[in-house]
Amino acid sequence: MMAAATAVHGPCIARVTGWWDVLTFVPSRSHPGPSHPVVNLARQVVTPPDKTPTRVLLEPGPGYDEPPYRAPRRDRFRLSDTFEGAVSGRHVLVVDDTWVSGDKGQSAALTLKAAGASTVTVLCVARWLRADWPDHEDLITRLEQPYDPLCCPVSGGTCE
Ligand SMILES: [Zn+2]
Repeated sequence: MMAAATAVHGPCIARVTGWWDVLTFVPSRSHPGPSHPVVNLARQVVTPPDKTPTRVLLEPGPGYDEPPYRAPRRDRFRLSDTFEGAVSGRHVLVVDDTWVSGDKGQSAALTLKAAGASTVTVLCVARWLRADWPDHEDLITRLEQPYDPLCCPVSGGTCE
């Protein structure tokens, strides 16, 4: 799915923001560092051969488990000291496995923007919906069409 999504829609994203220069993923406290299973998803990202992205690591930050829950915080993550300056002025692609409330992906974006990233794109493989969360109940109610991988996240049209 990651390879297909980036192969089909990577050029659509690139037409708007340019290709991503940097690649990272959303870490967790239980799997910090490059042993996180999401790394295997990030390895499937398709980028043109002349655009090989720099890989950087985010780490759980001091606000990782702090309230407000299900809301983004810039300090939920931090950029590893090894990669200080590596995102400045660059477009960063953040890979995550699941979008639940969006707070982790958006928190990663805030961290990267604070570190100087010019653009951040978050790409998730799955969307988790809970019928007992009011905002999710509304989304579930409005779902009328099955998932279409050719539906473009940039244009809203169909890509091939
Ligand atoms: Zn597209």
